[in-house]
Amino acid sequence: MTLSALSVASEVYPLVKTGGLADVAGALPPALAGEGIAVHTLVPGYPAVLAALQSPEVVHRNEDLFGGPARLLAGRAAGLDLFALDAPHLFDRPGGPYTDAQGRDWPDNAQRFAALCRIAAAVARGAVGGYAPDVLHAHDWQAGLAPAFLHYGEGPRPGSVMTVHNLAFQGQVPAHLLAELGLPPRALAIDGVEYYGSIGYLKAGLQLADRITTVSPSYAEEVRTPEGGMGLDGLLRARAAVFSGILNGIDEATWNPATDPHLPARFDARRPARRAADKRALQERLGLATDASTPLFGVVSRLTWQKGMDLLVAALPAVLGHGGQLALLGSGDASLERGLLDAAAAHPGRIGVQLGYDEALAHLIQGGCDALLVPSRFEPCGLTQLCALRYGALPVVSRVGGLADTVIDANEAALEAGVATGFVFSPPGPAPLQAAIGRAAALWREGEQWARLQRNAMSADVGWTRPARRYAALYRGLSSSR
Ligand code: ADP
Repeated sequence: MTLSALSVASEVYPLVKTGGLADVAGALPPALAGEGIAVHTLVPGYPAVLAALQSPEVVHRNEDLFGGPARLLAGRAAGLDLFALDAPHLFDRPGGPYTDAQGRDWPDNAQRFAALCRIAAAVARGAVGGYAPDVLHAHDWQAGLAPAFLHYGEGPRPGSVMTVHNLAFQGQVPAHLLAELGLPPRALAIDGVEYYGSIGYLKAGLQLADRITTVSPSYAEEVRTPEGGMGLDGLLRARAAVFSGILNGIDEATWNPATDPHLPARFDARRPARRAADKRALQERLGLATDASTPLFGVVSRLTWQKGMDLLVAALPAVLGHGGQLALLGSGDASLERGLLDAAAAHPGRIGVQLGYDEALAHLIQGGCDALLVPSRFEPCGLTQLCALRYGALPVVSRVGGLADTVIDANEAALEAGVATGFVFSPPGPAPLQAAIGRAAALWREGEQWARLQRNAMSADVGWTRPARRYAALYRGLSSSR
């Protein structure tokens, strides 16, 4: 049976992206199509979205949506069926989707994303003639009020799913906004949208959606503990019966080393030796010594505490001590950016750092480095280690969340069984990271073992087929239970 789903997200690859959420929002719909689920994706009408929309059609109007007129446009873009919320007073501005050019949150984020959610609920209830989705799927706090608007609204409604991609971002706004947002007084309750005296967007979604998911089984367990729950563990324990973890995949067309336009030399599991030319190109690109006989460690990351980038800075002596090089691409906290630039200046030819966001370089690092470092303190799923597996860059990861679920440590048993795909350390701290870097460097020098791990990594199942099957089952179970 064909089902239809309305996916609601604040970013979608390749139109607007700040992180893994965009990758998932862009890749899940085509994968679900293979499972007989037709997905429309509702996103804010940022300039990049409106510019990409092919033959847009106005399918809904709102004369006053938080202080200005809004139109809902339907059209195709980037292979997706999109609804774009064209509300210039909310979304037509330079800067990022959540922040201005200086990195400050837009002061009206509460209204901007409440607008997205209100329209989502209206569309889910049939505001667009002829369109009646079976499921509304809300992603992260920006879409968290959509299940709430469905819950408190009148009349029949589809089932709702709330997926949390990162519990650290919760969207908390002052309680006095309740009426302005369009929620009834009774919503400001512990079993509603109230969250520690404020309104919690993510909390609202997690409380009021019919099903909730997060992006890996291990993270689903971690967030039910006081240490990992960031204030929401009680709620998540209470809703355990409808809460599950479904691993993300990566888009295997975008991330395909055999066809990747960003790689000077393309390769696959049968011809991994071609990576040597990509390694050289990466070394040249980042000003590293073009030396084939040194293990090259890579990083593609937001530069934040969550990602353990301070642990990385502390572990740089291990990279250098084992004769290695580092190629890093990232942007984030100013102090980490400075620390990394200082390290690069102190070790020219050994540490190469590129600050900023650069899609092409991200691909070259995956294709050119020997091992990718992901020392996160917590990681809901993590996509870079999945890309690394596919590109034969062996991941060196902390044993948390989705990293623990996707990388098989090269311990003695796994090496003997021939199943290892990378290096896993615990707990996330400088000394365990340094030890893992040492293990990786040592194994890299034993070419044959390394090649074996590389073959395992490159044949790991990191695509969307399996996860899409699980989401499809979730949607079907939900819609038949209603
Ligand atoms: P998160 O969403 O927490 O940042 P993920 O690992 O889930 O982390 O997803 C990160 C995504 O963003 C990956 O696709 C990665 O390649 C990409 N990425 C991160 N930083 C950069 C950067 N500086 N330049 C280009 N791509 C980046």
